[in-house]
Amino acid sequence: MVEAFAVASGKGGTGKTTSTLALGMALAEDYDVTVIDADTGMANLLFHAGLNDADVTLHDLLIAERDVAVEDAVYDRFGMSVVPCGTSLAAFEAADPGRLRDVVAELASNTDVLLLDSPAALGSKSAVLPIVLADRIVVVLQPTVPSLSDGLKVQEYAHSYGTDTAGVVFNRVRPDENVDRIAEQAGRYFGGQTLASIPESDAVRAARREGKPLLAHAPADPAADAFREAAARLDVRD
Ligand code: ADP
Ligand code: MG
Repeated sequence: MVEAFAVASGKGGTGKTTSTLALGMALAEDYDVTVIDADTGMANLLFHAGLNDADVTLHDLLIAERDVAVEDAVYDRFGMSVVPCGTSLAAFEAADPGRLRDVVAELASNTDVLLLDSPAALGSKSAVLPIVLADRIVVVLQPTVPSLSDGLKVQEYAHSYGTDTAGVVFNRVRPDENVDRIAEQAGRYFGGQTLASIPESDAVRAARREGKPLLAHAPADPAADAFREAAARLDVRD
């Protein structure tokens, strides 16, 4: 049975896209993984996955008149099926966000794990639908109290729609930060499982510049190890 995860956060730039592709590659060792860029307003997964030139994207699937088949927007990349989204503002405005439900249902019939790279914040239908459609959320945070507070709101929202918490990924953790204290804070403020603490890493930035997921660009980097640990802790249901 497929399990769908929304990779979410309160703010942009916390590392959702980086985390989606890293978790996806780690899970692809054991499962058929499909990754969808559901951040349809600020799509950037295509840049992280070397798909800048993709002809057909999620936007085409969300615009009924374009009459495109779901499989035409699926690309085999890095051992995963990847559905990128385009960056055109006009296409975002023309898209019907509600069509994501059918796209996800169709993709779900053909994979073990779905990862939805989700928009930050909770303002609109396109922003919240990925969380509503997922079975569980992975909350990507930076280890600060404001970031935890934002994550808490995302979690509350998810729970109100019956979407459980898979856990928290702390990202961009610097060596001087006390990971145990952060995990303790997560328990106090957030109550979620800590999946991993991902260090601030030059390899993450370099991977993005190369248009490759971290686990393809630098599989031995400590940040890659930490993402593999997080993927194992997700305990994907069989
Ligand atoms: P989001 O999808 O949440 O907006 P991204 O995954 O695109 O965030 O990350 C935002 C930026 O931060 C990217 O340029 C990315 O390379 C960088 N970044 C993310 N995680 C790390 C990290 N652990 N170390 C260094 N840079 C990072
Ligand atoms: Mg992103």
